[in-house]
Amino acid sequence: MTDTVLYKTSVFVHCNQSIVIHDLTNLAFYGDDDDIALLKRLADEPSTLASILSLPGIDELKERVDFFLRERLIVPVSHDESGDFMTHRVDIETCRQCNARCKFCPQSVSPKARGVMPLELFALVLSRLEDTKPEWLALNHYGEPLLDPFFRERVELLRERKLLLGLYTNGTLLKESTIDFLALGGVYKVVFNFPSMDPAEWSNLMQLPEKSYWKARRTIEYYLSLDAPVVNGIYISVNVPDENQAARAERITEHFSALGKIGVQMEYSNSRAGSVENEFVHINSRAESRYYAGCERIAHHLHVSWEAKVFLCCQDYDQSVVLGDLTKDSITNIMSSQLARDFRAELYGLAPMRNGRLCLNCNMLRRDRFSSVLLPVVAPL
Ligand code: SF4
Ligand code: SF4
Repeated sequence: MTDTVLYKTSVFVHCNQSIVIHDLTNLAFYGDDDDIALLKRLADEPSTLASILSLPGIDELKERVDFFLRERLIVPVSHDESGDFMTHRVDIETCRQCNARCKFCPQSVSPKARGVMPLELFALVLSRLEDTKPEWLALNHYGEPLLDPFFRERVELLRERKLLLGLYTNGTLLKESTIDFLALGGVYKVVFNFPSMDPAEWSNLMQLPEKSYWKARRTIEYYLSLDAPVVNGIYISVNVPDENQAARAERITEHFSALGKIGVQMEYSNSRAGSVENEFVHINSRAESRYYAGCERIAHHLHVSWEAKVFLCCQDYDQSVVLGDLTKDSITNIMSSQLARDFRAELYGLAPMRNGRLCLNCNMLRRDRFSSVLLPVVAPL
C-alpha cells in the first residue's frame, strides 16, 4: 500500500545557493549536492519511497530520506499544503503613526491616521497565540512603536507570556530609561532605521529635523554602551540602495562598531508591493508569469492590525487583504480559511496567480525555487 504513495518536495521548500529553507517549519540547513538534487528532482517528479530509496549514487540515502520525511521536506502528493500555516513570527500594529516621513517609506506619501490598539485587545491577540512560541513578535506595521502610550505595558505582557520582542524603531523617541527597562530582558533583536551618519543627509532621507538625528544617534550609542542582553543582537538598517549606500553603511559600521557589537545591513528599500514609488524606490513587477515559487509570509508570519484584523503581510501597507478577525476567530481558522488557502496556493505555484493581486508588484515573490543552484546530473529514477 505505502509503495503506491507518491512523495514530492514540499512546496514550502526552496534553496538559496546551498542553503535549504523550509518556509513552513522555519528549518534552514546547508544541503549538499545530493540533498539539493534530490529535492529538485522530487519537486519536478514525485516518486514512491521505494523508487526514491533505489536511486543509485547517493550517499547515506536511507538516512537522508528519513530526515526529509521527519522534517516535512518531502510530503505525500495527496497532502493539500494550501491550508498549512505555522506561527513563527508575529507583527502587531500597536500604533499606526510614525513621527518620521522617510522618503523610501509609504508613510511619506500616505501617512496613517492616528490609532492605538487598546491594551485589552493586545492581551486578547496574545491569548490567541495559545501555546505557539514565535521566534519574535514585533510591534509595528509602519508605526513607530515608541509613540505607543502602552509600550512598556505591552513589553511586560510579552515577558509574562515568555514572548520575545523584535523592536524595529527609528530611535528618535527611545529614552535612556526605556532602554534600561528593555535591558532587563525579553528582547530578541533591536533594529534601528538609520540611513546615514551625515546629519543633513539623514534629515533629508527621514524628513526629520537634525536634532532628531542626534537623538537617534545617542540612543544607539547608549544602547551599545550597556552591552544589554539581546538574543539575536542589535542592527542598523541602511536604506536607499543608491550608489552611496555602501559608503554610508561603511561609515555607520566604523562609528558604531567602535562602541559595541552591532550588525549593519544594507536594505533594498522596496516599494511595499507598489505603495511608494520615487527616485529612491522602484516597483519591481512580477507580472511576467502566472505561477510562482513562494513567499514565506503566508506560511509562517502573522500580521495583525490595530483592530485585531489579520491581514496578508507587512508589504500590504493599506491592509487591503483581510484574512480574518482575531476578536471572532482563532489563528488556525483564519490562516486556513478559503481566502488564505487561495493566496497560499497562488503564491506557492499550486494555482495560477489571479490578475490584480498586490503580490504581482512585490519583490518578495519568488520566481524560482532552485534558481541560484548549480545542480549535478543525477541518474533518472
Ligand atoms: S521607514 Fe520606519 S521610521 Fe521611516 S517613516 Fe516608515 S515607519 Fe517611520
Ligand atoms: S509576495 Fe509580497 S505582497 Fe505577497 S504575501 Fe508575499 S510579501 Fe506579501
